[in-house]
Amino acid sequence: MDVFERLGIEPIINASGAVTRLGGAPMSPSVLEAFCAAAGESVPLEQLQGVASRVIAEATGAEAGLVTAGAAAGLTLGAAAILTGYDLGRMERLPHCDGFPHEFIIAREQRNGYDHAVRAAGVRLVEVGFHEPIAGAGVRRVEAWEYASAIGPSTAGIVYVYGPHARPSLAEVVAVAHDHGLSVLVDAAGELPPCANLREIVAAGADLVAFSGGKAIRGPQATGILCGRRELVGAAALQMLDMDDHFDLWEPPDSLFDRSRLAGLPRHGIGRGMKVSKEQIVALLTALRLFTEGAYDRELAAFRGHLERVAAALEGIARTALVDPADGESLPVLEISLDEAGLGRPALDVCRRLRHGSPPVYVGHGLLDKGKLVINPLHLNEARTATLIRRLGDELRP
Ligand SMILES: *Cc1c(COP(=O)(O)O)cnc(C)c1O
Repeated sequence: MDVFERLGIEPIINASGAVTRLGGAPMSPSVLEAFCAAAGESVPLEQLQGVASRVIAEATGAEAGLVTAGAAAGLTLGAAAILTGYDLGRMERLPHCDGFPHEFIIAREQRNGYDHAVRAAGVRLVEVGFHEPIAGAGVRRVEAWEYASAIGPSTAGIVYVYGPHARPSLAEVVAVAHDHGLSVLVDAAGELPPCANLREIVAAGADLVAFSGGKAIRGPQATGILCGRRELVGAAALQMLDMDDHFDLWEPPDSLFDRSRLAGLPRHGIGRGMKVSKEQIVALLTALRLFTEGAYDRELAAFRGHLERVAAALEGIARTALVDPADGESLPVLEISLDEAGLGRPALDVCRRLRHGSPPVYVGHGLLDKGKLVINPLHLNEARTATLIRRLGDELRP
């Protein structure tokens, strides 16, 4: 019997991709094997994170890296690291930052729900620029001088949400920050693929970068990567790891920590609730290797095949369009345009009915206002594709 059925919950057909709400990405067999093998032995976590630091440094070109409990945890820890550096007193006081700089500058147009993770460390966000193109009130995006003019004695850093359409470029924002001795924390959680972004964001000068481990890398859902300058990554690690050891016994790996600069060991830090297990670390590193070696690219044709089957089955029932990504690495998706008038219900209702069926089907819901369902093939195989076709047919046949 299926493990979920035993618990009384029916597994769904996930046609939405690696979304956190639906459990993230599927893990490859070798990732699951690594997870299980790691569960059978014990290792000191700071030593294992030291190994992870070297592996992540190799993959990203950064000085150091840390496996975090997701990109959002990476943002909290990264913000904490920029706030405290190696200052043990500040680490102890977070998220209260009375008496030291704790403002981070962010473009107003980059504000999003995930920046709560930055604020959680104690940061106060200071917005620059406007939303003029969205407001229909102008053509200009946020500009580098606006970041520069907002910097003052309370400024501790800059947050930048990376993306192909982000303006100004990360390099320009880094130049402003470094001119003022400030660090830039980059949210690049969903910016893989392209695989090249693993290196390019670091190469653009970012001081810390957070990636999701449970999206395109297909590691455990509750993992992520924080990489960047060793001093900052080390400060982040100090605020996440279990610190209940004697300083005289503590022999941390050089790949993460500069022990000589520490006056002692901090107590458990603000990131203690974001701990990562040895199994998660080992599985994430295994998945990272598959991702960087291009193992997932070899599955693209099969994923495309599943979408083509869905499209063929819907011929005469709904208009479909297979959308191939420009980067040649991301998964294609299938957009299904509904005849809402003919069906007598809007796309939102179709989406709800798909969720209420058996098995429940969750399709991409980002284009419902345009009357479209989006099929992401990441979780599809032959059997699930057949079930998906049956359920779509049930709901879309007039
Ligand atoms: C997914 C996402 C996150 C959160 O990543 P997790 O690994 O789920 O914590 C943060 N920021 C952005 C922009 C994202 O897309």
